[in-house]
Amino acid sequence: MTRTPAPLRWFVIWLLACAGCQSAFATQPITLQANTETAIRLQPGNLELLFDAASDGVPESIAARWAAGDFSPASALNLGLRSRGVWARLVIDNTLEQPTAIVLSHNYAPTDLVEVRHPRPDGSWYQQRRGDLHLAGSRESPRTPSFLLQLPARSTTPVYIFVETESNLNFDMSVYAPNAYNRIEQSLTLIYGALFGAVLVSAFYLVLSAVMVHSGLAIILGGYLAVYAAYVSFLMGFAHYAMPDALILWTNQLHMLSLALLMHLGARFYRGFLDLKHKAPKADKAVALLQWLALGLALLHQMPPMLALVLSLAVIVIGPICTTCLALYLWQQGVKQAGIFTLGWVLAPIAAVLSTLRVNGLLPNADWLIHLPAISLLMTLACFSYAVLRRFSLERDLVFIDPLTGLLNRRGLDAQAADEFERRERFGTPLTLLVLDIDHFKVVNDTHGHDVGDKILCALGDCLTRVSRELDLIARLGGEEFAILCVQTDLREATVLAERLRLAVSALEVAGQRFTISMGVAPVRDNDSSIWDTLVRADDLMYQAKHEGRNKVVAAGQAA
Ligand code: GH3
Ligand code: MG
Ligand code: MG
Repeated sequence: MTRTPAPLRWFVIWLLACAGCQSAFATQPITLQANTETAIRLQPGNLELLFDAASDGVPESIAARWAAGDFSPASALNLGLRSRGVWARLVIDNTLEQPTAIVLSHNYAPTDLVEVRHPRPDGSWYQQRRGDLHLAGSRESPRTPSFLLQLPARSTTPVYIFVETESNLNFDMSVYAPNAYNRIEQSLTLIYGALFGAVLVSAFYLVLSAVMVHSGLAIILGGYLAVYAAYVSFLMGFAHYAMPDALILWTNQLHMLSLALLMHLGARFYRGFLDLKHKAPKADKAVALLQWLALGLALLHQMPPMLALVLSLAVIVIGPICTTCLALYLWQQGVKQAGIFTLGWVLAPIAAVLSTLRVNGLLPNADWLIHLPAISLLMTLACFSYAVLRRFSLERDLVFIDPLTGLLNRRGLDAQAADEFERRERFGTPLTLLVLDIDHFKVVNDTHGHDVGDKILCALGDCLTRVSRELDLIARLGGEEFAILCVQTDLREATVLAERLRLAVSALEVAGQRFTISMGVAPVRDNDSSIWDTLVRADDLMYQAKHEGRNKVVAAGQAA
């Protein structure tokens, strides 16, 4: 007996496997046994496909192509990037005794062209492009292509669906009872409306505060968040509501433009926020290149396929992965704010990468993946806004805080004292100002050096903070002169505090050195228009203490 040659054996096994798959995937009609409120999501087995965009699209000839066996069972609903259209055939069985209305909805293809055709009992054909569903409310067209089909009682209806897209051919469709469809769409509109509202308010707030503090960075962040919201609204089909009919044809191009701007502004913000130009000049050039390359995404569908693939890989996958690694590195290196920024940055590219893989048919159309860009938008909004506001507050601190002692500086005292003056005027609570100066500080500096002098200034700052109350405003006015604005404190109480401070300071020892202070104590008077009026008097009293031998407190009223 001659043995079958190996290749032939494998061929037979392959044929059997194909036949097995064929029968497994044979069209199983979708059966409506009741007006179910939950959606029936199509399985590959429910569909047969015809990969032939050249077919003339006449309903009868499509039906003839199906009868001739030109359609083949679908093995996947998510078919990846194809520029041509595909026909699909779906069979819906109505086992009910009465005619039934259903909604056939293309779940997530807001930028695709979808056509639906099916024969009516009278022999004519129902034909509709994009979606014919008019819902209660102000909406002109459904969010995604959705069709209202009337099924006769006890009938089997073949439905032909044509999908043409520039991104990903997918047949992820569901059959809904009309009420269930309405409810789900209304809930989604509510949730996404709240999200877009939050983003737009934040973007507006950021731009407004950016204009006030002259921060170009916050303007970029505001723009980034607004474009992110626009991108998500294209992705989810909400952009249709706001677009005039004339623009609908351009939906896909506008969608790509929003993606291009999103990546461009994201890279721009990244460079500015992490101050890459100074921290990593070479990386800054690379991210700048990414920033400008990203604009090419707007023309992705007009490019040769190979170039489009390389560009989208570079901008949407490799670029974000590299910038994420760089942000993590800078975080490790202790760059301030890089931590929270990194978190916000990582979320957006992960969502973009996963979303792109889904759009290209490499990941399934799972619900969590479809809503991931919106979820990451929300988290990015929180992280970036927090990072930017913290940076604003750090910058404000730089303006109002003395870097050596960490106390308020003149400007800080001026700003905070103004509030206390207002409170005094309104409630009549007493305010008293202490001014103090280190005695013979020049000698300390000259004999022991500025380092020791600086240590003494810091130790004095700590001592003043420790001994006075938390509400009191302590400031370094300059050099070795300090001021304390004692809140809700009259002259007598302030003088007691001043004496306590004098004793505490004279007990301090810094780098083997002891030192003393002289102080003037003056209450704020009704005709003092700002703290500087009081300061002049307190200063005079302090100089009087110097004249009287130093290491002394002179309060108003005690003056000779
Ligand atoms: P008096 O008792 O009359 O106040 O004498 P004094 O030597 O403290 O006063 P004077 O104003 O002549 O000297 C102030 C000195 O404070 C001059 C300068 O060397 C020192 N100084 C000012 N700012 C700083 C600083 O930031 N660090 C250090 N180490 N020294 C400072
Ligand atoms: Mg001095
Ligand atoms: Mg001085």
